[in-house]
Amino acid sequence: MPAHPTYGPIIIPSPGHFYMNDIMHCLNSNARKVTSYKYVFFKCILDNLFNAYDYEEMIALPYEYLAESFSRIYWNLSAKYDIPQIVNGRNNTMVVEADKLTVDPLLKGVDFDVLDNNIRNKYLQATKNQITKDVIYALYDDFNNTIYGYDNNKRVIFFTPESYKFLCDYKDALEKINFYAWIRWTENILDIRHEKIANLSSKLDEEPERIALNKFRDELLSKGEPRVCFYCGKPLSRIEVDHFVPWSFVKDNQDWNFVLACHDCNAHKKDKLAPKPFLGKIVLRNRRLFVPNHEHNLVLSYDSALRNGFTLWTR
Ligand SMILES: [Zn+2]
Repeated sequence: MPAHPTYGPIIIPSPGHFYMNDIMHCLNSNARKVTSYKYVFFKCILDNLFNAYDYEEMIALPYEYLAESFSRIYWNLSAKYDIPQIVNGRNNTMVVEADKLTVDPLLKGVDFDVLDNNIRNKYLQATKNQITKDVIYALYDDFNNTIYGYDNNKRVIFFTPESYKFLCDYKDALEKINFYAWIRWTENILDIRHEKIANLSSKLDEEPERIALNKFRDELLSKGEPRVCFYCGKPLSRIEVDHFVPWSFVKDNQDWNFVLACHDCNAHKKDKLAPKPFLGKIVLRNRRLFVPNHEHNLVLSYDSALRNGFTLWTR
């Protein structure tokens, strides 16, 4: 494989340019995709949009976040569910690099989040190498260089304010378009192999195990968050954690987006957005609990969820 440039500048298109064309160009060119890398990496970008930060005139998203998401998704597809991710063969090259880990029959069926730290870190390292070597460049090239640029030395992909706004404003729709293309791609491979996998769509877009969220509950409590429901103020005996901006929109778990809630509020709110005054409340809470407090990311994700059609919860 030829070495790719270590720096990929982002092209600033002329006014009126449709970013959607660049994305559809990539997703429609099915024939050229031997692996599911590009779908998964695009999902990782969308899932991590609100982990980006201002960087000179651009908005940067560290490889660190992308590699973590990429690892979790690929581990679960390959080792946990045994879903093929490459046209010719069972596994993709990234998994082959880490194959010494996945061939261990004891690790078959195991969720990424409960892996031993040692194994998880080895796998994460293999993923980082693979995305830096190949995946970031491949999607950059397929997106006609307009959606993001990358810098292998600073280890960030970066957006212009315009391309970033486009991704935020259409996050939900883009995710669904990408997901549809990815499912079709996977079903096609399964057809060729005369295989069937039950509940394919929910395996490709898996909700985090609730048990994995307990660490966020414990973190909030240890930082001094009171044991009362964030929404109704009721003292909590059984504590639940709620994604303040719904998980179904952000698709990401960050401590600054979690609140403690009672079962009733959590069950009623579901994937709706809390009314605006609660946004002020959680911003103040985060200023108290977190350094940095990620205020900009939180407000941006809340506003983006509204623009993407998420409805307000009426209590
Ligand atoms: Zn409550």
